[in-house]
Amino acid sequence: MKRLYYDRDADVGFLKGKTIGVIGYGNQGRAQALNLRDSGLEVIIGVRADETRQQAKSDGFEVFPIREAAEKAQVVMMLIPDEVMPEVFKRQVLPGLSKGNAICFASGYNIAFKLIEPPSGIDVVMVAPRMIGAGVRQRYVEGRGFPSFIGVHQDATGKALKTVLAIAKGIGSTKSGVMLLTFAQEAELDLFTEQAFGPAFGQVLMSAIQTLIDAGYPVEAVMVELILSGEFAYSMQKIVELGFFQQMELHSHTSQYGSMTRSMRFMIPQIAQTMKENLEEIRSGAFAREWEAEQKAGLPLFNQIKELRNQHPIAEWDRKTRKAFRIG
Ligand code: NDP
Repeated sequence: MKRLYYDRDADVGFLKGKTIGVIGYGNQGRAQALNLRDSGLEVIIGVRADETRQQAKSDGFEVFPIREAAEKAQVVMMLIPDEVMPEVFKRQVLPGLSKGNAICFASGYNIAFKLIEPPSGIDVVMVAPRMIGAGVRQRYVEGRGFPSFIGVHQDATGKALKTVLAIAKGIGSTKSGVMLLTFAQEAELDLFTEQAFGPAFGQVLMSAIQTLIDAGYPVEAVMVELILSGEFAYSMQKIVELGFFQQMELHSHTSQYGSMTRSMRFMIPQIAQTMKENLEEIRSGAFAREWEAEQKAGLPLFNQIKELRNQHPIAEWDRKTRKAFRIG
């Protein structure tokens, strides 16, 4: 089956004459609504009476309560936080859905872990940008694309793929390319980045900071050397632009030799083993169940760890270094 789709495979015109109801006007909601409107589509916004409602109005959109927007729209885009979505879906969106309409998610999470079970008779699709909301808008305005994972969970009309491709093109993603995955694959990849790659990288950074501070280097020098100069972020950007190994050519020979010969010492099998265990926890649904229970209990562990996090000395080292080098 074809997996990659580009501008030439998608037709925004397929959604002409239909109303797109964007539920939520935050990071993704605002960016996607503006892009879809600029692509010539009819967009209305569904939000509760709050701050983002004003923003949507001053951006020139017609704004409705969520239930009303879901009733008026033929394509409903769920762009509110994943953790509040099941409740909002059940109480305010579901009553407004009609047979033959479509619902589009920007993350596979709630469908993959069965926290939302949509009724039959509607198309259930996904356009999950690999880009923060501000980037979704900026890339569109600049005429550049960004990758997204798309999915079709339920194809009631037989036209769900056309719908999802039209949305992906409307928000500007097919310019770069979109890849067809299952909702579960999207959600699992996303959670793996958050729960394996991100934390492993964070621990490596913390170890490096601690090693150098324990060895007596000034805190500000350590922080600026490792992270706050932006040099590392710049190298990451060059990995994206040039390739993983090609970007190494931008570094000195001393740097390349030292890095290549020493990198083997950090091949620690325990890292991959822990990543595998974390992935299994995600795929089995154990994480989703744990997180649901934590929310129902009022977030005790979440708040406790956040409190500890804020007390970590790195917060003070970060502040001192920013002040010393006038960063931020
Ligand atoms: P946001 O946190 O930016 O969503 C904010 C919007 O949701 C606001 O309009 C807010 O309204 C509304 N909202 C919040 N809580 C509720 C509630 N209980 N009831 C009704 N409305 C509520 O979300 P994101 O844009 O970050 O995420 C939206 C979707 O996009 C998610 O599925 C996410 O996984 C996905 N995604 C997000 C990315 C990102 O960059 N953030 C990247 C790719 C995908 P109010 O002002 O009233 O609070």
